[in-house]
Formats: sequence, C-alpha cells, structure tokens
Amino acid sequence: MMNLNCRILSPGSLAEVLQLLADQNSSTKILAGGTDVVTGIKQGSKRFINTDLLVDINRIPEIKNIKKDKNKITIGAGVTFSDLCASEIISNDLPILKKAASTIGSMQIRNRATIAGNFVNNAPCADTVPALLVYNAVLEIESLTSKKEISLQEFLSGPYKTQLKPGEIVTKIIIPVPDDNYRGDFYKLGRRRAVAISRLTLAVLVRHENNTIKDIRISSGAITPIGTRFQNLEKFASRKNFDENLCRELSQKIGEEVLAATGLRWSSAYKLPVIQQMLFQLLMNLR
Ligand SMILES: Cc1cc2nc3c(=O)[nH]c(=O)nc-3n(C[C@H](O)[C@H](O)[C@H](O)COP(=O)(O)OP(=O)(O)OC[C@H]3O[C@@H](n4cnc5c(N)ncnc54)[C@H](O)[C@@H]3O)c2cc1C
Repeated sequence: MMNLNCRILSPGSLAEVLQLLADQNSSTKILAGGTDVVTGIKQGSKRFINTDLLVDINRIPEIKNIKKDKNKITIGAGVTFSDLCASEIISNDLPILKKAASTIGSMQIRNRATIAGNFVNNAPCADTVPALLVYNAVLEIESLTSKKEISLQEFLSGPYKTQLKPGEIVTKIIIPVPDDNYRGDFYKLGRRRAVAISRLTLAVLVRHENNTIKDIRISSGAITPIGTRFQNLEKFASRKNFDENLCRELSQKIGEEVLAATGLRWSSAYKLPVIQQMLFQLLMNLR
C-alpha cells in the first residue's frame, strides 16, 4: 500500500472525475500511472509537495482505448506505453510513436505509465513528445463546464509547465493519419541502452516525391528546454532535393537552432556534434 500522506479517490466515471476536479483546488492532482506523481510526492518535489488529494483515473474505461476512424487516430489519455507498443494501429500508422514508447523506462514502468502523464509532466526528456509533435498531435481537454482542443505544441508552455488549468483533464490525443508516402524514425540517446533518461532525442517524419521534399517535420526532446519542432529547418528543406548535401546542411543548421534555443552550455561541445550526426544519419536512412 502507498503511504503518501494524501487522500486518493478512485471515481468510476469521467463525469465523477470532472465533478471532483471542479470541487477541489490546486492541491488536487490527477493520478494516472503514478510514475511521476507518486515519486514526486515521495521525493518532496516542489511541483507535488502540496498535493492533498489524488484523483485516480484508472477506472475510467473511455480513456483507455485506441481507435482509428477514417483519417484520424484517437488515443485515450490513460493508454499505457505497453498498450501503445501492443497496438496494431500504432504499429502500422504511427511507428515513430511506437518506437518512442518502447524506449521508455522498463517493462514495469511501461505497464503503468500513460501517454498523457508523459506530456502533462512535460519533462524536457519526455520521450513521446518529439514523436507526437511530428505527428501534429492535438489534445482534447475537458472540465465540468468545457471541452476544447489544443495542439500539443501550444499546450507545452515550458519545462514542467503546460496550459492545463485547475479542474481540467486531458481525455484524448487526436492524430491525423499520415498517408502511406510518409516515412519517419526516432532516435533516443541515453547514458545506457535501457531504463535510461534521454540526453538527446530526435524524431523525423518526411514525405518526398521524385526525390523532392514535399513535407518534412523534425522535432527534438531533452536537448531543447521542451520538445520542439524545428520550423526553420522544415521551411528550409521544403521543395529541395533530398540529397546528401541537404542532409548535411540540415544537420549543420540544427546545431545553430539548438544553440539559439539553449545558449552556450558546458555540454554544448559534446551535444551539438552528436545531435548533428544523429540528424544526418536519420535523414540519410529515410532517403
Ligand atoms: C524508473 C523510471 C523510469 C522512467 N523512464 C522514462 C523514460 O525512459 N522516458 C520518459 O519519457 N519518461 C520516463 N519516466 C517518467 C514517467 O514514467 C513518464 O513521464 C510517464 O509517462 C508518466 O505517466 P504516468 O501515467 O505515470 O503519470 P502520473 O505520474 O500519474 O502523472 C504525471 C503528471 O500528469 C498529470 N496527469 C496524468 N494524466 C493526466 C490526464 N489525463 N490529464 C491531466 N493531467 C494528467 C498528473 O496529475 C501529474 O501531474 C520514468 C519514470 C520512472 C519512475
């Protein structure tokens, strides 16, 4: 049994969750897999220290499904990384997300930890964020009095900060299905191969025809303060020939973009050449 010094309620419907969140204040937190929130409370993390009520959302069936409907895939906020890895829809249509999910923690963590918990926590090293960003993920957010959609990029406002307001819950992640001409990949670099916090991550999704780039999406995690799309690079590459020269130019430019976002750090001398080489290799493999 957990000894967390706070109350835990486990409502059986979304309506009850919304009512509980509306009745309470900022010391109420949602409990999904608990792999961030429980460890945070136990370690006395500033973000969780005043938590006096956890609203457990594990008994809400409608946030645990993955569905494909014509041109969009809807992933329930309470879907775990193991669910994502086991899903045929995710394997076939969103392989970058599957790859990112499969790199997270250990099997025990993947069996508990949820997709929404990952980006609501919004650690710079949250591994699904770069994958979700290249897929143009949109979130559905509900409160007792409202339902709205917001793009993931807009939702992520800073390290460990989001646009989520008290009383709100993320219910779904909605992703437009990329057509068959898209190819992509994800790379995570950690200090070791398993149960490793990312030092650098990159996701790339590209569609090219007759060797001309029609659409390219590039995003990072861990090396930038939050997961970010590199829109300057994407614009630069658009309609260009997808040749080795372009791959080199983009790799050069990602170093400049990261430096502009982070400023010069003690780790820059190591990280910049590594991220440049990571991008070069990802792009060359996607040609
Ligand atoms: C040993 C270990 C290894 C780890 N390895 C990795 C790793 O390799 N890569 C990685 O990215 N992360 C890793 N993590 C971090 C963690 O597992 C993930 O961030 C995970 O996705 C969090 O999901 P959760 O369901 O456990 O969230 P919780 O801990 O339950 O919640 C996290 C935050 O999100 C909020 N929240 C949860 N669900 C919702 C919702 N539907 N709507 C609104 N708010 C919500 C909670 O209130 C809380 O603030 C690791 C953690 C541990 C303990």
